[in-house]
Amino acid sequence: MAKVQQRIGRIASLTAGIAALISAFAGPAAAEPLAKVLFGGKALPAATKPASYGFYSKGCFSGGVAIATDGPTWQAMRLSRNRRWGHPTMIALLEKLAGDAVADGWPGLLLGDVSQPRGGPMLTGHASHQIGLDADIWLTPMPDRRLSAAERENMSATSMIRKGALTVDDRLWTPAHAGLLRRAASYPEVERILVHPGIKKKLCDTVTGDRSWLRKIRPFWGHDYHFHVRIGCQAGSPGCKRQDPVPAGEGCDKSLAWWFTEEPWRPNKNPDAPKARDLMTMASLPAECRAVLDAPDPVSEAAVTVGGSSLAAVAAVSAPVAAAPQPPAAAPVAAIAPNAFAPTPDIGVPIPRPRPD
Ligand SMILES: [Zn+2]
Repeated sequence: MAKVQQRIGRIASLTAGIAALISAFAGPAAAEPLAKVLFGGKALPAATKPASYGFYSKGCFSGGVAIATDGPTWQAMRLSRNRRWGHPTMIALLEKLAGDAVADGWPGLLLGDVSQPRGGPMLTGHASHQIGLDADIWLTPMPDRRLSAAERENMSATSMIRKGALTVDDRLWTPAHAGLLRRAASYPEVERILVHPGIKKKLCDTVTGDRSWLRKIRPFWGHDYHFHVRIGCQAGSPGCKRQDPVPAGEGCDKSLAWWFTEEPWRPNKNPDAPKARDLMTMASLPAECRAVLDAPDPVSEAAVTVGGSSLAAVAAVSAPVAAAPQPPAAAPVAAIAPNAFAPTPDIGVPIPRPRPD
Protein backbone atom coordinates (compact mmCIF):
# COMPACT_ATOMS: atom_id res chain seq x y z
CA MET A 1 0.00 0.00 0.00
CA ALA A 2 2.74 2.38 1.01
CA LYS A 3 4.54 1.51 -2.21
CA VAL A 4 1.49 2.29 -4.30
CA GLN A 5 1.05 5.60 -2.52
CA GLN A 6 4.69 6.39 -3.09
CA ARG A 7 4.27 5.64 -6.76
CA ILE A 8 1.15 7.77 -6.99
CA GLY A 9 3.02 10.56 -5.24
CA ARG A 10 5.86 10.23 -7.70
CA ILE A 11 3.50 10.30 -10.67
CA ALA A 12 1.70 13.31 -9.24
CA SER A 13 4.94 15.21 -8.76
CA LEU A 14 6.09 14.22 -12.24
CA THR A 15 2.81 15.48 -13.67
CA ALA A 16 3.19 18.71 -11.74
CA GLY A 17 6.72 19.04 -13.08
CA ILE A 18 5.56 18.51 -16.66
CA ALA A 19 2.75 21.01 -16.17
CA ALA A 20 5.26 23.55 -14.85
CA LEU A 21 7.50 22.91 -17.84
CA ILE A 22 4.63 23.32 -20.28
CA SER A 23 3.49 26.54 -18.65
CA ALA A 24 7.09 27.77 -18.66
CA PHE A 25 7.36 27.33 -22.42
CA ALA A 26 3.81 27.96 -23.51
CA GLY A 27 4.56 31.37 -24.94
CA PRO A 28 3.24 34.81 -24.18
CA ALA A 29 -0.19 33.64 -23.06
CA ALA A 30 1.37 31.89 -20.06
CA ALA A 31 3.82 33.57 -17.73
CA GLU A 32 7.05 34.18 -19.63
CA PRO A 33 9.93 32.22 -18.10
CA LEU A 34 12.47 34.43 -16.38
CA ALA A 35 15.75 34.80 -18.19
CA LYS A 36 17.62 34.20 -14.92
CA VAL A 37 16.02 30.75 -14.66
CA LEU A 38 16.88 29.82 -18.24
CA PHE A 39 20.48 31.07 -18.06
CA GLY A 40 20.94 29.87 -14.49
CA GLY A 41 20.06 26.36 -15.66
CA LYS A 42 22.89 26.11 -18.19
CA ALA A 43 25.86 24.04 -17.02
CA LEU A 44 28.08 24.59 -20.06
CA PRO A 45 28.75 27.46 -22.48
CA ALA A 46 27.39 27.90 -25.99
CA ALA A 47 29.97 26.14 -28.16
CA THR A 48 30.00 28.82 -30.83
CA LYS A 49 32.28 31.71 -31.70
CA PRO A 50 33.11 33.97 -28.72
CA ALA A 51 30.82 36.98 -28.75
CA SER A 52 29.13 39.21 -26.17
CA TYR A 53 25.58 40.41 -26.81
CA GLY A 54 24.02 43.41 -25.11
CA PHE A 55 25.25 45.25 -22.06
CA TYR A 56 27.05 44.23 -18.88
CA SER A 57 23.76 44.23 -16.98
CA LYS A 58 21.51 43.04 -19.79
CA GLY A 59 22.93 40.45 -22.13
CA CYS A 60 24.60 37.10 -22.64
CA PHE A 61 27.60 35.63 -24.42
CA SER A 62 28.69 32.65 -26.48
CA GLY A 63 31.98 30.83 -26.83
CA GLY A 64 32.73 31.10 -23.13
CA VAL A 65 35.66 29.39 -21.46
CA ALA A 66 36.23 28.66 -17.77
CA ILE A 67 39.23 29.50 -15.67
CA ALA A 68 40.49 26.30 -14.04
CA THR A 69 39.55 25.93 -10.39
CA ASP A 70 43.28 25.82 -9.60
CA GLY A 71 46.28 27.34 -11.24
CA PRO A 72 49.81 27.91 -10.02
CA THR A 73 48.92 31.46 -8.97
CA TRP A 74 45.19 31.31 -8.23
CA GLN A 75 42.35 29.40 -6.62
CA ALA A 76 38.73 29.85 -7.61
CA MET A 77 36.21 30.27 -4.79
CA ARG A 78 32.52 29.31 -4.41
CA LEU A 79 32.82 26.52 -6.96
CA SER A 80 29.19 25.44 -6.54
CA ARG A 81 28.03 28.62 -8.24
CA ASN A 82 29.58 27.58 -11.58
CA ARG A 83 30.49 31.17 -12.39
CA ARG A 84 34.04 30.65 -13.61
CA TRP A 85 33.04 31.39 -17.19
CA GLY A 86 33.94 34.36 -19.31
CA HIS A 87 34.85 35.64 -22.73
CA PRO A 88 38.23 34.06 -23.64
CA THR A 89 39.88 37.49 -23.35
CA MET A 90 38.57 37.90 -19.79
CA ILE A 91 39.77 34.46 -18.75
CA ALA A 92 43.19 34.99 -20.35
CA LEU A 93 43.43 38.29 -18.51
CA LEU A 94 42.69 36.65 -15.15
CA GLU A 95 45.39 34.10 -15.77
CA LYS A 96 47.85 36.84 -16.72
CA LEU A 97 46.93 39.03 -13.76
CA ALA A 98 47.41 36.10 -11.40
CA GLY A 99 50.93 35.50 -12.71
CA ASP A 100 51.87 39.17 -12.79
CA ALA A 101 50.49 39.75 -9.30
CA VAL A 102 52.63 36.97 -7.88
CA ALA A 103 55.66 38.45 -9.63
CA ASP A 104 54.74 41.76 -7.93
CA GLY A 105 54.71 40.10 -4.51
CA TRP A 106 51.00 39.33 -4.06
CA PRO A 107 50.60 35.72 -2.86
CA GLY A 108 48.11 34.70 -5.54
CA LEU A 109 44.50 35.41 -6.47
CA LEU A 110 41.32 34.15 -4.89
CA LEU A 111 38.86 34.39 -7.72
CA GLY A 112 35.21 35.27 -7.16
CA ASP A 113 32.44 35.25 -9.73
CA VAL A 114 33.05 35.80 -13.41
CA SER A 115 29.87 34.81 -15.34
CA GLN A 116 27.50 31.91 -15.79
CA PRO A 117 28.44 29.59 -18.69
CA ARG A 118 26.30 31.56 -21.14
CA GLY A 119 26.10 34.73 -19.07
CA GLY A 120 22.68 36.27 -18.67
CA PRO A 121 21.02 37.40 -15.47
CA MET A 122 21.75 35.37 -12.34
CA LEU A 123 19.41 33.87 -9.79
CA THR A 124 21.34 35.61 -7.01
CA GLY A 125 23.87 38.42 -6.70
CA HIS A 126 25.22 40.71 -9.36
CA ALA A 127 23.26 42.95 -11.67
CA SER A 128 26.14 42.88 -14.16
CA HIS A 129 28.55 40.00 -15.02
CA GLN A 130 26.15 39.05 -17.85
CA ILE A 131 28.34 39.23 -20.97
CA GLY A 132 31.53 37.53 -19.81
CA LEU A 133 33.51 40.74 -19.37
CA ASP A 134 33.27 41.24 -15.56
CA ALA A 135 35.18 39.42 -12.84
CA ASP A 136 35.42 39.72 -9.06
CA ILE A 137 38.73 39.18 -7.30
CA TRP A 138 39.04 38.92 -3.54
CA LEU A 139 41.11 41.46 -1.65
CA THR A 140 42.13 38.57 0.63
CA PRO A 141 45.55 37.18 -0.31
CA MET A 142 45.62 33.53 -1.38
CA PRO A 143 46.77 31.24 1.46
CA ASP A 144 49.95 29.24 0.82
CA ARG A 145 48.03 25.98 0.62
CA ARG A 146 45.24 24.56 -1.50
CA LEU A 147 41.82 25.24 0.01
CA SER A 148 39.32 22.38 0.16
CA ALA A 149 36.06 22.63 -1.76
CA ALA A 150 34.27 23.22 1.56
CA GLU A 151 36.64 26.03 2.50
CA ARG A 152 36.09 27.63 -0.88
CA GLU A 153 32.37 27.53 -0.21
CA ASN A 154 32.44 28.82 3.36
CA MET A 155 35.57 30.90 3.91
CA SER A 156 34.70 34.56 4.35
CA ALA A 157 36.54 37.31 2.59
CA THR A 158 37.86 40.11 4.77
CA SER A 159 36.39 43.57 4.45
CA MET A 160 39.06 46.20 3.97
CA ILE A 161 36.74 48.82 5.46
CA ARG A 162 36.53 49.61 9.17
CA LYS A 163 33.32 48.40 10.72
CA GLY A 164 30.68 51.10 10.68
CA ALA A 165 32.97 53.45 8.79
CA LEU A 166 33.73 54.41 5.23
CA THR A 167 37.49 54.29 5.39
CA VAL A 168 40.06 51.54 4.98
CA ASP A 169 41.21 49.55 7.98
CA ASP A 170 44.90 50.39 8.12
CA ARG A 171 45.66 47.19 9.98
CA LEU A 172 44.63 45.27 6.86
CA TRP A 173 45.60 47.53 3.99
CA THR A 174 49.08 46.98 2.56
CA PRO A 175 51.12 48.43 -0.30
CA ALA A 176 50.62 45.03 -1.97
CA HIS A 177 46.88 45.69 -2.18
CA ALA A 178 47.60 48.95 -4.00
CA GLY A 179 50.08 47.13 -6.23
CA LEU A 180 47.49 44.53 -7.16
CA LEU A 181 44.99 47.20 -8.17
CA ARG A 182 47.68 49.09 -10.07
CA ARG A 183 48.60 45.93 -11.95
CA ALA A 184 44.96 45.15 -12.78
CA ALA A 185 44.46 48.70 -14.06
CA SER A 186 47.58 48.49 -16.21
CA TYR A 187 46.08 46.30 -18.93
CA PRO A 188 44.60 48.12 -21.89
CA GLU A 189 41.63 45.73 -21.99
CA VAL A 190 40.57 46.83 -18.50
CA GLU A 191 38.25 49.83 -18.67
CA ARG A 192 37.00 50.01 -15.08
CA ILE A 193 37.81 48.60 -11.68
CA LEU A 194 35.11 48.97 -9.06
CA VAL A 195 36.14 49.34 -5.41
CA HIS A 196 34.54 50.63 -2.22
CA PRO A 197 34.90 54.44 -2.03
CA GLY A 198 37.10 54.04 1.05
CA ILE A 199 39.59 52.06 -1.05
CA LYS A 200 39.54 54.67 -3.77
CA LYS A 201 40.20 57.33 -1.16
CA LYS A 202 43.10 55.36 0.26
CA LEU A 203 44.66 55.18 -3.19
CA CYS A 204 44.02 58.89 -3.80
CA ASP A 205 45.73 59.68 -0.49
CA THR A 206 48.73 57.41 -0.85
CA VAL A 207 49.68 56.61 -4.44
CA THR A 208 52.89 58.33 -5.52
CA GLY A 209 54.58 58.50 -8.91
CA ASP A 210 52.34 57.66 -11.85
CA ARG A 211 48.76 58.24 -10.76
CA SER A 212 47.13 58.06 -14.18
CA TRP A 213 45.81 54.54 -13.48
CA LEU A 214 43.61 55.91 -10.69
CA ARG A 215 41.24 57.04 -13.43
CA LYS A 216 40.15 53.44 -13.99
CA ILE A 217 39.52 52.84 -10.28
CA ARG A 218 35.88 53.75 -9.71
CA PRO A 219 34.12 53.99 -6.32
CA PHE A 220 31.00 51.87 -5.97
CA TRP A 221 28.79 50.27 -3.36
CA GLY A 222 29.90 46.88 -2.06
CA HIS A 223 33.41 45.96 -3.24
CA ASP A 224 35.01 46.21 0.18
CA TYR A 225 35.81 42.46 0.21
CA HIS A 226 36.67 42.25 -3.45
CA PHE A 227 37.33 44.38 -6.48
CA HIS A 228 35.56 44.09 -9.80
CA VAL A 229 37.47 44.12 -13.08
CA ARG A 230 35.57 45.08 -16.20
CA ILE A 231 37.06 44.82 -19.66
CA GLY A 232 35.69 46.49 -22.79
CA CYS A 233 33.72 44.96 -25.65
CA GLN A 234 35.97 42.62 -27.61
CA ALA A 235 36.57 42.25 -31.34
CA GLY A 236 34.04 39.89 -32.91
CA SER A 237 31.22 41.20 -30.73
CA PRO A 238 29.34 43.75 -32.83
CA GLY A 239 26.31 43.24 -30.59
CA CYS A 240 28.22 44.26 -27.46
CA LYS A 241 27.10 47.62 -26.10
CA ARG A 242 30.01 49.73 -24.90
CA GLN A 243 29.94 51.43 -21.52
CA ASP A 244 30.53 55.16 -21.26
CA PRO A 245 34.23 55.95 -21.03
CA VAL A 246 35.51 56.74 -17.54
CA PRO A 247 35.59 60.49 -16.87
CA ALA A 248 38.92 62.24 -17.35
CA GLY A 249 41.18 62.75 -14.35
CA GLU A 250 42.13 60.72 -11.32
CA GLY A 251 38.65 60.85 -9.79
CA CYS A 252 40.03 62.04 -6.46
CA ASP A 253 37.79 65.07 -6.57
CA LYS A 254 34.21 66.11 -5.79
CA SER A 255 32.88 62.91 -7.37
CA LEU A 256 34.71 60.96 -4.67
CA ALA A 257 33.77 63.40 -1.91
CA TRP A 258 30.09 62.67 -2.64
CA TRP A 259 30.59 59.12 -1.40
CA PHE A 260 31.57 60.51 1.99
CA THR A 261 28.30 62.34 2.40
CA GLU A 262 25.18 60.78 3.81
CA GLU A 263 23.35 60.70 0.48
CA PRO A 264 24.73 57.49 -1.10
CA TRP A 265 24.05 55.53 2.07
CA ARG A 266 20.42 56.49 2.63
CA PRO A 267 18.25 53.44 3.06
CA ASN A 268 16.50 52.33 -0.09
CA LYS A 269 13.13 54.10 -0.20
CA ASN A 270 11.53 51.13 -1.89
CA PRO A 271 13.32 48.03 -0.61
CA ASP A 272 10.62 45.67 -1.84
CA ALA A 273 10.76 46.80 -5.46
CA PRO A 274 11.81 43.83 -7.61
CA LYS A 275 15.31 43.90 -9.04
CA ALA A 276 15.75 43.96 -12.81
CA ARG A 277 16.99 40.37 -12.82
CA ASP A 278 13.74 39.27 -11.17
CA LEU A 279 11.71 40.70 -14.05
CA MET A 280 13.81 40.10 -17.13
CA THR A 281 12.41 37.63 -19.63
CA MET A 282 14.05 36.68 -22.91
CA ALA A 283 12.21 39.62 -24.46
CA SER A 284 14.32 41.95 -22.28
CA LEU A 285 17.58 40.60 -23.69
CA PRO A 286 19.14 40.96 -27.15
CA ALA A 287 17.48 38.64 -29.68
CA GLU A 288 20.75 36.71 -30.12
CA CYS A 289 20.47 35.46 -26.55
CA ARG A 290 17.78 32.99 -27.66
CA ALA A 291 20.28 31.40 -30.04
CA VAL A 292 22.91 31.46 -27.30
CA LEU A 293 20.55 29.51 -25.05
CA ASP A 294 19.81 27.00 -27.82
CA ALA A 295 23.41 26.54 -29.00
CA PRO A 296 25.06 23.15 -28.46
CA ASP A 297 27.27 22.34 -25.48
CA PRO A 298 31.01 21.82 -25.95
CA VAL A 299 32.20 18.20 -25.79
CA SER A 300 33.16 18.61 -22.14
CA GLU A 301 33.92 21.18 -19.49
CA ALA A 302 37.61 20.24 -19.64
CA ALA A 303 37.69 21.06 -23.35
CA VAL A 304 36.78 24.67 -22.58
CA THR A 305 38.76 25.17 -19.37
CA VAL A 306 41.82 27.39 -19.38
CA GLY A 307 44.85 27.20 -17.13
CA GLY A 308 45.68 24.77 -14.39
CA SER A 309 46.16 21.22 -15.54
CA SER A 310 44.10 21.43 -18.72
CA LEU A 311 46.00 24.03 -20.65
CA ALA A 312 44.73 23.50 -24.17
CA ALA A 313 41.29 24.98 -24.23
CA VAL A 314 39.64 26.75 -27.04
CA ALA A 315 35.92 26.93 -27.54
CA ALA A 316 34.71 24.99 -30.52
CA VAL A 317 34.48 27.53 -33.26
CA SER A 318 31.60 27.38 -35.65
CA ALA A 319 29.39 29.96 -37.26
CA PRO A 320 28.57 33.01 -35.17
CA VAL A 321 25.25 32.87 -33.41
CA ALA A 322 22.58 34.22 -35.72
CA ALA A 323 20.04 36.67 -34.44
CA ALA A 324 16.84 34.86 -33.63
CA PRO A 325 13.68 36.46 -34.97
CA GLN A 326 11.93 38.63 -32.41
CA PRO A 327 8.76 37.09 -31.08
CA PRO A 328 5.71 38.82 -32.53
CA ALA A 329 4.18 39.90 -29.27
CA ALA A 330 7.05 40.64 -26.92
CA ALA A 331 5.76 41.72 -23.55
CA PRO A 332 6.33 45.41 -22.92
CA VAL A 333 9.45 45.85 -20.86
CA ALA A 334 9.49 49.61 -20.65
CA ALA A 335 9.29 49.47 -16.88
CA ILE A 336 12.60 47.64 -16.67
CA ALA A 337 15.69 49.69 -17.06
CA PRO A 338 18.57 47.53 -15.91
CA ASN A 339 21.69 49.55 -15.47
CA ALA A 340 25.05 48.35 -14.29
CA PHE A 341 25.40 51.54 -12.36
CA ALA A 342 22.02 51.39 -10.70
CA PRO A 343 22.40 51.26 -6.94
CA THR A 344 22.11 47.56 -6.24
CA PRO A 345 24.44 47.32 -3.27
CA ASP A 346 25.79 43.94 -2.28
CA ILE A 347 25.19 42.63 1.19
CA GLY A 348 27.51 44.42 3.58
CA VAL A 349 26.76 48.00 2.73
CA PRO A 350 28.47 50.11 5.36
CA ILE A 351 26.25 51.63 8.00
CA PRO A 352 25.23 55.13 6.97
CA ARG A 353 27.30 57.73 8.72
CA PRO A 354 27.04 61.47 8.91
CA ARG A 355 29.27 63.46 6.63
CA PRO A 356 32.81 63.26 8.05
CA ASP A 357 34.29 66.57 9.11
ZN1 LIG B 1 31.37 42.15 -9.42
